[in-house]
Amino acid sequence: MPEHQTPLIATIAAGLMLAFVLGLIAQRLRVQPLVGYLLAGVMVGPYTPGFTADPALATELAEIGVILLMFGVGLHFSLKDLLSVGRIAIPGAIGQIAVATLMGAGLSWALGWPPLAGFVFGLALSVASTVVLIRALQDRHILETHRGRIAVGWLVVEDLVMVLALVLLPALAVAVATEGKGIPSSQLLLSLLATLAKVSMFVAIMLIVGRRVIPWLMHYTAHTGSRELFRLAVYAVALGVAYGAHYFFDVSFALGAFFAGMVLGESDLSQRAAEEAIPLRDAFAVLFFVSVGMLLNPMVFVEAPLAVIATIAIIIVGKSAAAYLIVRAFGYNRSTAFTVSASLAQIGEFSFILIGIGIGLDMVPKESRDLVLAGAIVSIMVNPFVFTLLERLGADREVPPKYKPDAEPETDLTPTTLTGHDIVVGYGRVGSLVGAGLRQEGAKMVVVEASDAGVDRARSDGADVFTGNAAEPAIIAALNLAGARRLYVTIPEAFEAGQIVQQARAANPTLDILARAHSSATVEHLEKLGANLIVLGETEIAHRMLEHGRGDTRTAARSGLNDGLQDAPIAP
Ligand code: AMP
Repeated sequence: MPEHQTPLIATIAAGLMLAFVLGLIAQRLRVQPLVGYLLAGVMVGPYTPGFTADPALATELAEIGVILLMFGVGLHFSLKDLLSVGRIAIPGAIGQIAVATLMGAGLSWALGWPPLAGFVFGLALSVASTVVLIRALQDRHILETHRGRIAVGWLVVEDLVMVLALVLLPALAVAVATEGKGIPSSQLLLSLLATLAKVSMFVAIMLIVGRRVIPWLMHYTAHTGSRELFRLAVYAVALGVAYGAHYFFDVSFALGAFFAGMVLGESDLSQRAAEEAIPLRDAFAVLFFVSVGMLLNPMVFVEAPLAVIATIAIIIVGKSAAAYLIVRAFGYNRSTAFTVSASLAQIGEFSFILIGIGIGLDMVPKESRDLVLAGAIVSIMVNPFVFTLLERLGADREVPPKYKPDAEPETDLTPTTLTGHDIVVGYGRVGSLVGAGLRQEGAKMVVVEASDAGVDRARSDGADVFTGNAAEPAIIAALNLAGARRLYVTIPEAFEAGQIVQQARAANPTLDILARAHSSATVEHLEKLGANLIVLGETEIAHRMLEHGRGDTRTAARSGLNDGLQDAPIAP
């Protein structure tokens, strides 16, 4: 045994190792790796025999994941986006919280708990987990679409409501304890106003000062040429602002980090900053699931099965139905409504905090914690299935004309009528250049792109555009691959590129397939799946440099092409 205790390292090491092993097994069994992460948590938790990690430390580590995740989301979000989805997100989130709280209170009443317990318990069931929501949207490439933004805006509003709730609960507890003495209601109002003032002050400071200082700081650091310092700047800003927001303004870590990302997002360094944050973010997001698993007492499934089932039903069915109806009432189409419902049909970190405070203040019985945790774990585990189910429902049905969406065109999967066309998958830095070249040739072009910005670029270049993840069979089926001339797979993700190439090859054995790669392993992988030409970025850079150095005659012809593309729109 070592002489000194190292609980932090033990928790990180055990959490990551077990999550890795069980995640791998889950992947082999074709279930979501996050199921493995949650089970890893249960195994190192205090309710199962063997090694026990420190749950408090694990929860804190998970917060780092939440901070980096929300920082990354903020980077892709502008103030304009936030305001544009506010019209639906504010009433939507508040409406859904009210409905979920009422349902939770109903269950609490049925369990014989006091009315105040119902309020706290219901509130805990009403708020979705940031980590689960963002990962679900990212996995499906819908984070940067309008419906993805609605879901994120909704989450931000929920977060704000919870910040207020966290302040209000202690005041409420005092008010109830000293009922009839008259003072507390004004106190309640006062603490509410004080919190609102602090949150507004934080937002104002970020929008006025942060918006100038943070991009300046990042630019300055980038110009030092030190990658290490730039990386450090990303983490320092994300964690520093999040912590400062929490410490000085009582704002949640997540919200603080979101604003830090948002003010940096308007700068052209946001892409690089986002890339730097990814590795650490993913590792800590895994620890989030481990920390959730650790808190679960599995006995609750045996001791109170009915209450657990009712809790899960509220989270998955009740909340989804409420969100669906609200989104539809605002005139959005089915697929938007289903996406928003599915992404919110789970609970997580905020629920644990709320219920913990409620128990600390003696407002709710202790059993409520086990119900909330069981509800969280099950709703997180089944979330991917809920997503698939609801999205399928959304795609299957016709849209009644009176529900023509006001902000987002229906994802139209009517197959293209073009033949002899070129298909460009991804319309970012690479795809948009390919597109510009094809346009010059006068080729017929179909584009598949996941982000709104890319879709807009492709449309303005005169392409037929399909919005969504190009690896989806439904989209592949709409591209008329059998009649196409050439397929350009310009997305950087090797895994999805492989899925696309494989399906395309199956649909048309003679199609000319060109793909982009970042490693020789990817080149081999894509070759096996049937791509004709795989372009490895690094090799091309070297060729081009050598050509120039040798004064190669081809250089002249090539740079002529480049000149022609000079004014092509290049993604930021
Ligand atoms: P870049 O790396 O700048 O060439 O950008 C890649 C582009 O591909 C981005 O605009 C992404 O939104 C888009 N993209 C990445 N993966 C997919 C996918 N699976 N389906 C559709 N578009 C994608």
